[in-house]
Amino acid sequence: MSIKTNQSAAFVAALADEPHGSMNKLSSLASLLRAAAQVPTRIADIGARHPRTLTGVLVAGLMGFGVTAFGIAPLAPDASDLPRRLVTEIVTAENIPSQLETLASHPIELYRSDLTRNADTADSLLARLNVADAAAAAYLRSDKTARKLLEGRAGKMVRVRTSASGELEELVARYPAENPEQFGTHFSRLRVSRVDGALQAQIEVAELDSQVRLGSGTIRSSLFAATDESRIPDPIATQMADMFSTDIDFHRELRKGDTFTVIYEALTADGEPITWNQASGRVLAAEFVSNGRNYSAVWFKDSNGKGGYYGFDGESKRRAFLASPMEFSRVTSGFSMRFHPILQNWRAHLGVDYGAPTGTAVRTVGDGVVDFAGWQNGYGNVIQIRHSNDRTTLYGHLSRIEVRKGQHVEQGMRIGAVGATGWATGPHLHFEFRVKGQHQDPLAIAKTSEAIVLSAASRAQFATMAQSLRQQLQAAEAAPQGTAYVE
Ligand SMILES: [Zn+2]
Repeated sequence: MSIKTNQSAAFVAALADEPHGSMNKLSSLASLLRAAAQVPTRIADIGARHPRTLTGVLVAGLMGFGVTAFGIAPLAPDASDLPRRLVTEIVTAENIPSQLETLASHPIELYRSDLTRNADTADSLLARLNVADAAAAAYLRSDKTARKLLEGRAGKMVRVRTSASGELEELVARYPAENPEQFGTHFSRLRVSRVDGALQAQIEVAELDSQVRLGSGTIRSSLFAATDESRIPDPIATQMADMFSTDIDFHRELRKGDTFTVIYEALTADGEPITWNQASGRVLAAEFVSNGRNYSAVWFKDSNGKGGYYGFDGESKRRAFLASPMEFSRVTSGFSMRFHPILQNWRAHLGVDYGAPTGTAVRTVGDGVVDFAGWQNGYGNVIQIRHSNDRTTLYGHLSRIEVRKGQHVEQGMRIGAVGATGWATGPHLHFEFRVKGQHQDPLAIAKTSEAIVLSAASRAQFATMAQSLRQQLQAAEAAPQGTAYVE
């Protein structure tokens, strides 16, 4: 039998009670370090029938996690001036003896958490949660409200409380709101509880909260393997790949040993970071060190209220063209870009092929007008888009076309889906970029295309924000080791 909290990522510090925030939340970086004191605790193998053994195991558990080390990587561009160091905090839990006495002298209630799985039945889920209660399983199968636990998508966050003998006392499941418009703000809470000996079920819609979190990692195989290891949600990994997409080609240039640090908002349901991807918080700041080069960006809302990522120099990370016509995701990350299979050269092939499953979303890399949307020999279903300054892009072999000739499109908008129409040996996107009719390497174009620059009005505000962030980082660096940093 084991009990554990859900927060066990060694590199993630939670800052509780932060409202949905933006850049000003970064002013509390120091609090983030303090919040690191909220260490994950894992208490394993507690014999329910031997309350006294609990004492020893609990002490061992607390001691094991008493010291937590966080690698803090500087975010500032002149990071080479700042030494990397390890911040170590000694965390003391208060009143351990009295807590243990309380635990040992009371009937034990056990909590367990898990996620629902596709193949789950009421019995398999309860068995995994160590609930030995046939009546509860029958209730989950038959009650109209309780049945929702195993209906719809898997991945619901479930937490149960049982008596020492394994009887279900309470079950709480948290999952996405039913109304898609509430995905980013609310969640569903299904509660099954025992009232006067009988189980009752009810569903509430509750508000999501957010915490500011700090995560870091090192690339060993892929970006997603690294973010998984640091318990960083997929949408945060995707946002990071997107914000640095004109600095680093995540398909071709990511190297073993590259490192990243990210400060992001995590949406929480009753204090637990949500595990579903229908909603996610925003990356507030990140640094990526790739091949020895240091890239950083912060989220900033300009005076027109339009948010975006900017370097510390105030230059937007956004370019007139995206580096890739497909979002970097868990699906597309495993498929590398392919040049012509024989010539290995985009000039001869006149484009870049992105292998990806049929149906993967294709987006326009820049603002423009649809010049052609239909069938052409060889290309199959193909879309051609005209951009400013005599530039065009082409997207071939599509399974679906979702725009019409003459339609205005905005950068990042979905225009169709990957397929294998025309002369294609398998599902892939054939992508071309032409300037004045001449084929060009799309990545080179994206990297050198014009950046969006902050207005004069926003610049002063940005400078203040960036300056404050730098000071926070330097102050964190200067704090003596072994103590919690205090503002
Ligand atoms: Zn091709």
